Amino acid sequence: MAKRTYSVREYQAEVAALLPALPVEVTPLAGCRGLVLAEDLVAAVSLPPFDNSAMDGYAVRAADVAGAPVVLPVADDIPAGRTDVRPLEPGTAHRIMTGAPLPPGADAVVQVELTDGGTGVVAVSSAVPAGRHLRLVGEDVVAGTVVLSAGTVLGPPQLGLAAAVGAAALPVRRRPRVLVLSTGSELVEPGRELEFGQIYESNSVLIAAGVEEVGGVAEVLRFVPDDVEEFRSVVAARAGSADVLVTSGGVSAGAYEVVKDALTGHGVEFVRVLVQPGGPQGLGRVDGLPVVTFPGNPVSAALSFELFLRPALLGALGHRTVDRPRATARAAAAMTSPAGRVQYRRGRHDSGSVAVVPVGGPGSHLLASFAASNCLIEIPEDVTEVAEGAEVDVVLLD
Ligand code: AMP
Ligand code: MG
Repeated sequence: MAKRTYSVREYQAEVAALLPALPVEVTPLAGCRGLVLAEDLVAAVSLPPFDNSAMDGYAVRAADVAGAPVVLPVADDIPAGRTDVRPLEPGTAHRIMTGAPLPPGADAVVQVELTDGGTGVVAVSSAVPAGRHLRLVGEDVVAGTVVLSAGTVLGPPQLGLAAAVGAAALPVRRRPRVLVLSTGSELVEPGRELEFGQIYESNSVLIAAGVEEVGGVAEVLRFVPDDVEEFRSVVAARAGSADVLVTSGGVSAGAYEVVKDALTGHGVEFVRVLVQPGGPQGLGRVDGLPVVTFPGNPVSAALSFELFLRPALLGALGHRTVDRPRATARAAAAMTSPAGRVQYRRGRHDSGSVAVVPVGGPGSHLLASFAASNCLIEIPEDVTEVAEGAEVDVVLLD
């Protein structure tokens, strides 16, 4: 049977369909960073929850200091955290600290710098208008209103706000568990001795980092040699323990294609995506475990993650935006591209610049060029030559 062929868009949809929305779990705030809020968060309290002082100083009635300089008796001392504040009698002041509740009857705070700082009596040197240095209840948030709506990505400010309105945990789609398995008898774990003919294994590190960056939990199974039985037994042992398995290597046209040999006819279909690098792909389910198989060349694996798994993981996590931002720029050098395939070249594009500079050639082994780039230059299927200065589409990676 001829291999099925997909456009990038079509294959993105196939991979996304393999990863349904993750279940919602109420998760302590400390575990929510970068995740997506699944339901509106309604504030249990107002912010500020009570009228309080914005300054260290003295709570007064503005009318009592209108004739400043004046001297007032200090009838009370209110540090932040006092819960039993007494009313302010006319003609008196209460010493008050930032964040402390304003005593009933006070309508202004004189900052300490405009006084002599007295504790028995205080000399106030300047008049202040009513309302000065007050933070009023509900100024920021009114209790009962939605402060964070469903779909919000929870970054530091959003998590701080959730805590400020009293939420200890939030409903979020839980992190996807991603098994990462590299294949290749030539691969050696970094840190070990390398023999001639061997290379250090890098795809699992790169893919796992990408998974963690979007909020997933990666478990690296590292790698298995090009041995069908060993590969199958590693996969079978892990079915049911993860949301998706991603493999690299062993899917091209050569001999010893372990992933292809092990999974063909076992739930995974090997297909062709009209993209370069990253054309040979596979997807399916093995014993219920969703599987995507990436080619082994480091840039192919990286691009496969970027184009197919990253948006699928973001979608399963509930992100509304799963695509990277894009720009158009002028190619700083001419490029060629194969007919009938979208080519992604690595490039550098700095905001404010009209140019995008290709970094390295099209070779899918050029990992250092990828690491030196900050964008992908997208050359459409029907374009085979890009002239220097021509306008190109750019996918911004950072
Ligand atoms: P394959 O897709 O298995 O034919 O591999 C294509 C090329 O990528 C070969 O040169 C492999 O040595 C290399 N390669 C495959 N897997 C990895 C990996 N996990 N880390 C680094 N290079 C790899
Ligand atoms: Mg291989």
